[in-house]
Order: sequence, then C-alpha cells, then structure tokens
Amino acid sequence: MSDDLNPRTKAVHAGTRRSQYGEVSEALFLTQGFVYDTAEAAEARFLQSGPDEFIYARYGNPTVAMFEERIAALEGTEDGFATASGMAAVNGALMAFLKAGDHVVAGRALFGSCLYILENILPRYGVDVTLIDGTDLDAWRAAVRPDTRLCFFETISNPALEVVDIQSVSEIAHAQGALVVVDNVFATPVYSKAVQQGADIIVYSTTKHVDGQGRALGGVILGSKEHIRGAIEPYMKHTGGAMSPFNAWVMLKGLETMELRVRAQTTNAMVLAEALQGHEKLSRVIYPGHSSHPQHDLVSRQMGAGGTILSFDIKGGRDAAFRFLNALEIAVISNNLGDAKSIATPPAFTTHQRLPDAQKAELGITPGLVRFSCGIEDPQDLERDILRALEAV
Ligand SMILES: *Cc1c(COP(=O)(O)O)cnc(C)c1O
Repeated sequence: MSDDLNPRTKAVHAGTRRSQYGEVSEALFLTQGFVYDTAEAAEARFLQSGPDEFIYARYGNPTVAMFEERIAALEGTEDGFATASGMAAVNGALMAFLKAGDHVVAGRALFGSCLYILENILPRYGVDVTLIDGTDLDAWRAAVRPDTRLCFFETISNPALEVVDIQSVSEIAHAQGALVVVDNVFATPVYSKAVQQGADIIVYSTTKHVDGQGRALGGVILGSKEHIRGAIEPYMKHTGGAMSPFNAWVMLKGLETMELRVRAQTTNAMVLAEALQGHEKLSRVIYPGHSSHPQHDLVSRQMGAGGTILSFDIKGGRDAAFRFLNALEIAVISNNLGDAKSIATPPAFTTHQRLPDAQKAELGITPGLVRFSCGIEDPQDLERDILRALEAV
C-alpha cells in the first residue's frame, strides 16, 4: 500500500493479508502454531523467517501481524508489537530498554498500574526513578541527567487531564541521549502526532479506543524497526505478553471504525464541557479541548482536539459524587474509557484508591472528581442525563 494515503483509508486497508480464498473481512487465524512441509523447512524458518512465515503465536501470527501493521501505519511508525494488554505494553516498553543502574524520569500523573511499575517494580531491579510534574519543562530539565536512559509520561494524563508537551520533553531527553516513551491512550491514534513531535516509542492500551466496544484487552508498542525488532520483540516473545489472535482480530476490526467513533466522542465531550461550564454544583470542569483549560493552546498544537474524556469536580465530595453517579441513567459506572458507551468513574475511590491522600491531592484527585468518558450516544441525551443527575446532588 502506498504511504501517502490518509489515515482513514489506512485504518480500513493497511496491513491486510488475504489468504488464497480472497476473503473481504480479515481472516482470524486462531492457531498457536504452523506446519512446516519438511524438517529442512522447519530448520530454515528457525534460522530466518520471512514476512509471511510464522513459528509460534507467542512470537507472531498472521492476524496479529495484520493488526500490528495497520496500527503502525496509522501512527506513522515503521513497526509495532501487539501485546496482551496495555500494561503488558508499558511493562515491555520499559523493561526491554532498562537495566540496573539506569535512571528514568517520569511524569507523576500516571495510570495506577504504570505508577506501580515505576514506584514498586523498577527500583527492585536497581533502576533509579525520578517522578516529576510532567507539565513543568523546568522540572524535566532539572531531572534529566547523562545517565537517564528513558523518559516516560502519559499525555493527556488520567484523570486530571494535564497535557505534557511531547516536542519539548523530547528535545530535553534527546539532548542527554535518553529515549522518549509516551503512553498515548488519551490522545488516541486518531489525534496522536507523537512521532513527528519526537517520541521514540508510543504505547497504547488498545482496550480503550481501538476496541472501543468494551470487549477485549490489548496493547501495542510502536516505534522504529530497530527498536521494535531489536529490543522489544526479543523481550516480549520470551516473556509471554503476546496478544491473542482472537483479540487481534477484534482490534483490527475496531481500527476500521475508530476514527468515526473517536470524532463523535470528542464532539460529545465538547458539548458537555460547554454545557457544564459554571454549573452551580461543580467547582471545576476540566476538558483540554475547551478554552478554559490552562493548556488549551498546547493541546490544540499537539493533538488538534481535546479528546474523548472530561473530568468535573462535584461540590460536596464523596457523598455528592456518589449521589450523582447513582442518578445517571445513560452513562454507566465503570472504569474503562474510550468505549462507545459513556462511562463515569470516581477515580479517588476506584482507579486511584490505592494512592495515599497526599499523593491524590498532588494529582488533583479530589473526592468529588468524576471522570467522564464520552460514548457515541446522542449529545443532547447525554447532556440531559448529566444535568438531571446533578439535580439529584
Ligand atoms: C488503561 C490504561 C493502561 C492499561 O491498559 P490495560 O489494557 O488495562 O492493561 C495504561 N495506560 C493508560 C493511560 C490507560 O488508560
């Protein structure tokens, strides 16, 4: 396929491998292994396998390869490795590059499990981790040192929706020879331009917008051929975090409609952010796509849109937030995001419950905070549902 196609075309066609039957919809090769015609062929394949030659589904599989090629084409990276979950991708992207004695700088506003890897696992293996406020470029300049191997951050961050400047952090990191690894779930592959902005490795939980219909876990690590085949593939294929062929098939079909869903979800987020501004029951409304967000200019430059998630703080803390959540009729209470169904979460009591209160306060995770992942429902229905539920507070 030619490289100059636009993303919407790539999302439907890139990476397709048709079997001898000429199927229209991508085939699901639900097989862990592959038969060799002869013993010599088996030997040859273990020595060097070609692009259409597979050995074992932990290493690769035709359906998984179609998904990897399609999402890499969308992101604009040379290659990708699909993983069993988003966390298998984050863990792989960190562990494959790090060794004892290395230094890591990370933005502190992170998904709970990412924070666990950085705070609890990496230090056990002699990796020195510095957590900083990722929005503060001076903090990056102060923290990155000659022995810094890698910089890691999430942008937009969960759940306070802070934006880290990928281009500026990449310049700071590269000046010291450090790799830049971005967990870009909230930007989605639709809005991400992380490669052009300097990121070396981009990680997604495809459980979120790529599936987008709440069915399967998955993840992907994207980057140059050298990084993916040189460091990531050997680590992933020997440690077992491979994506199942069935989930790859779900994700591949998810990519076809992802842009349509994500743009509709973003429109809904903007409608809701607008409708909730200044609401008497709320102390703040956070949406990166709204002009009231302190980093609105940065997010416009970096992504061209504000994404599918907004957060708002309900006056009255836990009781008020719980009354609101229990009064919702359309949006469901759950902890996934990026789904076709709108999902509301109280992060202080669910996804970030584990954090000490001081750390919650530092990250803006107040008791009244609700993270609202916009689905693809009718925006007027969602607006009415939220306004009605706020009445119950
Ligand atoms: C969900 C999520 C993850 C983890 O992904 P799983 O598929 O649940 O393992 C990592 N980072 C971010 C930003 C996420 O939203």
